[in-house]
Amino acid sequence: MVAQWEKEVGMPTEIEALRAIRVRYTHGRKSRIGREAPSVRAFSWWLEAAQLQDEKKLAQLTIHHQGACGRCGRPLTVPESVDCGFGPHCADELGVAWERRDTTSFHGEGELSAESAAFALAGNARFTLTSLKSGARFTYKVSKAKAKPGDTKEPPWFVAVLSGPDNTSDYEYLGCLWEAK
Ligand SMILES: [Zn+2]
Repeated sequence: MVAQWEKEVGMPTEIEALRAIRVRYTHGRKSRIGREAPSVRAFSWWLEAAQLQDEKKLAQLTIHHQGACGRCGRPLTVPESVDCGFGPHCADELGVAWERRDTTSFHGEGELSAESAAFALAGNARFTLTSLKSGARFTYKVSKAKAKPGDTKEPPWFVAVLSGPDNTSDYEYLGCLWEAK
């Protein structure tokens, strides 16, 4: 009911709110990966380009989700959800329209385009950045921390990079994204 009412009076949908968020990356002091590591530099480079919608920079890489919903992390099984990166329930909650784009590449992974920054902030995003120039690729997990009672500011997103063969568990913590006011 609330969602319906919000839609009627023109409140932004969840995906519109995610698109509007600006975040800054801070490297974790406890990270075992150095702040100048290629995976960290690649992430920062992409984040800035994605938030500024810098088409020229974004054209230098591809971004693919890992076949799991960016919001809840569950496997994507329907073609439309593979295309947009969100399962039926989450797409509905976010206000994401389902459109078949025929960009699906292989094994349920899908290419993300204009929505890549919003996708990354959706809560449980796993995605791979591939440099078209060097072929270097890194897979990241960006997960929103749970809000704790008494928190005075928005909880951050944790950023981790895939560092082993198991793409569900072998992630190494890099740092945090904080909402910029
Ligand atoms: Zn979902």
